[in-house]
Amino acid sequence: LSIYSSWLDIDDNDHEDTCDVYEHMGTGSTWPEGAVMAQTASGDKRDFYRLSGKPCTCPNKAPIIYQGSHVNPSDDDPRGGCIDVAAIPNFLHPNVRHSRPNTPYDGEDMRFPVEFLRLTVDEDKATYHGGQPGLATVVLDRQQVEKLRDTLTDWLNTKERY
Ligand SMILES: [Zn+2]
Repeated sequence: LSIYSSWLDIDDNDHEDTCDVYEHMGTGSTWPEGAVMAQTASGDKRDFYRLSGKPCTCPNKAPIIYQGSHVNPSDDDPRGGCIDVAAIPNFLHPNVRHSRPNTPYDGEDMRFPVEFLRLTVDEDKATYHGGQPGLATVVLDRQQVEKLRDTLTDWLNTKERY
């Protein structure tokens, strides 16, 4: 049982219905082999789609694959890996668990926010470089989340980056 609730995923799994990663398979009433998405057609019929193998054409792209510190990234670069940001819901606060050890997950006590944020980064296999598969997960406390927020805000707002 995971205590974390995902708040943000930047990955290759959330494309818009009109994105080129999907290829129309045809219309039917039963889910065909290989279909990954369906839209309502008419009556009990649905339009089914499979993965096309084409690049993403919607805004919901995976991160750009890191090609080294000497390479300038580009929007057209290969995509892969993911970032996930997750929170612990209030009702799973440690104080709730300690005060009611026999009913830890009753969802009743929402008074105390949990001041830990889980940040997961999964790099594309292209950047393993012979090392271990690149999945990293850290938990940040409130002060670290504030520093990360301030850094991202500075980056977004600064005209001249150095
Ligand atoms: Zn897309």
